[in-house]
Amino acid sequence: MTQPKKLFIKTYGCQMNVYDSERMAEAMGGQGYVQTDSPDDADMILLNTCHIREKAAEKIYSELGRYKGLKAERPDLRIGVAGCVAQAEGAEIMRRQPMVDLVVGPQSYHRLPELEAKARGGEKALDTDFPEEDKFERLKSRPKAKRGPTAFLTVQEGCDKFCAFCVVPYTRGAEVSRPADRVLSEARDLVERGVRELTLLGQNVNAYHGHERGLAGLIRELAKIDGLARIRFTTSHPNDMDDDLIAAHGDCDKLMPYLHLPVQAGSDKILKRMNRQHTAEQYLRLIERLRAARPDLHLSGDFIVGFPEETEADFRDTMALIEAVEYGSAFSFKYSERPGTPAAERPQVPEAEKDDRLQRLQALLTRQQRALQDAMVGREVGVLFEKTGRLPGQMVGKSDYLHAVHVAAEGLQPGDLRPVRIVESGPNSLKGVLV
Ligand code: SF4
Repeated sequence: MTQPKKLFIKTYGCQMNVYDSERMAEAMGGQGYVQTDSPDDADMILLNTCHIREKAAEKIYSELGRYKGLKAERPDLRIGVAGCVAQAEGAEIMRRQPMVDLVVGPQSYHRLPELEAKARGGEKALDTDFPEEDKFERLKSRPKAKRGPTAFLTVQEGCDKFCAFCVVPYTRGAEVSRPADRVLSEARDLVERGVRELTLLGQNVNAYHGHERGLAGLIRELAKIDGLARIRFTTSHPNDMDDDLIAAHGDCDKLMPYLHLPVQAGSDKILKRMNRQHTAEQYLRLIERLRAARPDLHLSGDFIVGFPEETEADFRDTMALIEAVEYGSAFSFKYSERPGTPAAERPQVPEAEKDDRLQRLQALLTRQQRALQDAMVGREVGVLFEKTGRLPGQMVGKSDYLHAVHVAAEGLQPGDLRPVRIVESGPNSLKGVLV
């Protein structure tokens, strides 16, 4: 009996890359590959890459360098690069790292089996097309194996917004929405296999138009699936939060009270230069409408400091917006020039100023996050348990607000959804007791 070949996948970046890696592993499962956690015994190494910041792309080249010795020892080892760096850099990757056998973009990974066969035949395989055919239709149907209680599910890809700092429209292409019936059948399949919480993914997920009522329509359909207890979605753009979706936050019980809604900056001058197509005031009005629909909604945001031509006054506007919103969590970064994006051509803010602003911004966000987390003590929340904790008899799960919650209780299993009273708030998580 032939030994299964081993596939090592290393995933960088966003949740959509996590989902894509799962689908690529399944596609290669059809070629006799099983996954391994170590590159040392792999027959194929695949890096699923992120191109969002400069460091992210350079990291790939240094990672590839680490496999030079392995490849020299085992010339049959196949090395591939997938994801957004593959899309952006294509053949350049093979020029800089000749040991790379295969480069495949995010829209073509349904062709991975044939590309792997080509590379195994000794040819270089490169595919960074934006194919007409729907990759999800071409991908192998998902295996029936049991799985954990939470899953990502891509419903939309690409972006038409062209924010001045972002490479996504160039690496992921134009917005494409998966037909609702296909999403629903994949969701039912995941629930049959043990999933209780789904996070719907898209670079601009709330621009979803695969259902006549948009994302809200899809969410209401998904909410009818027995066994599916919770629904989340990410990442949204403020301009695509329509009335239906705001209402769904108010009246769809399975839609969790946590919303990731990036704004990036609080200064109208900078928002304009970023091409975000809305003002700070419009964003704050939107937050008010969302909180009117769901008063306990936890907001999460994305922030960039040091965007070209940002002054101290612009930065103070960002801080003022954060003060006004009070974020339950947030991601924040220094502006990083991305090749081919409009902002990369503009006068840059000195690195030292970026560092100073990032520190001040993160200090404020950390204070807010801690205050909102501490306010959970004494409250009762639902917790979906996912895995065992550090201590014996302890289980860890996520609350409705996406806080990590540790509970010491015998007999709890992954997939259990139980009411928990919060008794303690720690640096990054909560402690609770079963009610
Ligand atoms: S909306 Fe998001 S993904 Fe689209 S261009 Fe802007 S930052 Fe990039």
